[in-house]
Parts: sequence; C-alpha cells; structure tokens
Amino acid sequence: MKVAKFGGSSVSNAKQIKKVLDIVNEDPERKIIIVSAPGKRSKDDTKTTDLLIRLYEKVLNGLDYQSKKKEIIQRYADIVRELVMDKEILTTIDETLERYISQLYDKPARLYDALLSCGEDFNAQLIASYNNSQGIPTRYVSPKEAGLTVTDLPQQAQIIDSSYEDIYKLRDYNEKLIIPGFFGISKNDYIVTFPRGGSDITGAIIARGVKASLYENFTDVSGIFKANPTIIDKPELIEEITYREMR
Ligand code: ASP
Repeated sequence: MKVAKFGGSSVSNAKQIKKVLDIVNEDPERKIIIVSAPGKRSKDDTKTTDLLIRLYEKVLNGLDYQSKKKEIIQRYADIVRELVMDKEILTTIDETLERYISQLYDKPARLYDALLSCGEDFNAQLIASYNNSQGIPTRYVSPKEAGLTVTDLPQQAQIIDSSYEDIYKLRDYNEKLIIPGFFGISKNDYIVTFPRGGSDITGAIIARGVKASLYENFTDVSGIFKANPTIIDKPELIEEITYREMR
C-alpha cells in the first residue's frame, strides 16, 4: 500500500485535481491520499491558507469579514463549477466557517487553528466526492476518524504515539481514502494544526501508521534542474537521477 501526498499547487484548480486523480487512480496501490489546501493558481494568486489567516484577522479585529469569507468560498466554487459538481458542498463550507467563528470567538488561538484547517478539510471533501462521482469508490476521512490524535498546543501539533495503532486501522477500508493534511485533533477535541507546510507531516505520519510500502510526496514541477532557477537563468534539466543523488 502506498500513501501519496499532493501539495497546494497540485490541487489548486479543477484541471490540477483531475491530473492528481489520474495519477491516484492509475495505481491500485495508491490507497491513501493526503491533500493540501488549494494553493496559488498563478504567481500573483493567494494561497487559500493565507486567505483564511486574513479572515481570522478580520474576525479578531471585529471587522466585517463577509467579503473575505466569500473570497474563500469562491475558490471552492470555481473548482465545483469546473468539475460540474453539486453546489451543496458550498453551503456546508459557509456553515462550517460561520460555526467555527461563532463557537470559538472567545478562544482566538483555537479559532485560528480551526479556520486554517478548513483549507485542507474542504478540499479533501470535495476531491473525495468528485472521485466517487467518477465511479471510483472513494471516501473522505477526517483526521478525527483517522485517529490522528495530537498534542494540544495551537499551531504546534505533535503526534501522540498511541495514534499509530488507530491509524493502522485505515488499512481495513476498501475505498481509496482522501485525508486532509495539516491538522489533527487533540484529546480536548480541539483542531490543532502543524506548523505551516504541515501537510507533509500528515502524509509522513499516515504512511508510518499504516506501514505503507512507499510514501510518495508529489510536487508540481517540470523536473529537477542542475541549479536553482531563481539564481541561475534557465538551468538545464536533469534527465535521470537516483534517490541517493537527489538526497
Ligand atoms: N496549507 C498549509 C500551508 O499553506 C499546509 C500545507 O500546504 O502543507 O502552510
């Protein structure tokens, strides 16, 4: 069994999501998929996670947050429209954001983590539902259902050792599983995020927990360059590289 993780730019729009699902569906061993929040669609775009931080700041400062919330929902509405999916999921997204805001208004650090988790969480639900509608049995599994129990310090989640036993049970599902990256649930039932970029951590934890034969961490680039392209102009592509050389 393989665990595959796809980062933000790989799941930023409908076209990318279709590409990801082609990769996932072509290999029956790719059973567990970890996804990030929708990332940048172009150089000047904003990551959904950063939009969620702005939403949090508006709420915290008692400002009108409706237009920021709409901007976030729009990211998913674009994907839903391009994938020709039922719009119902957008109502759930709106309601979830409002619920976190009203329930955690008095606990800013908890509200921050809860809002940030939405980027990955909504994307995982959407991607699972789409793949299922394409005739491939697929299921969204929340970190809570997956047994991803973490420590309680906001934005600093660390896996609790006993979680690995629960995570192993993910092997019992027959469907392909889509799990949102970047957060777990604490024993006090709070959503707690890993540090930024933490979907990689979720992927690694799940891969270890299910004793996967391989953890694949996909990124959307055209290849490996011989030099850093932000420093060297148009470096050459490396045609072939071993894992050892890559390391
Ligand atoms: N979405 C989160 C971030 O932007 C986590 C991740 O993508 O790995 O940091």
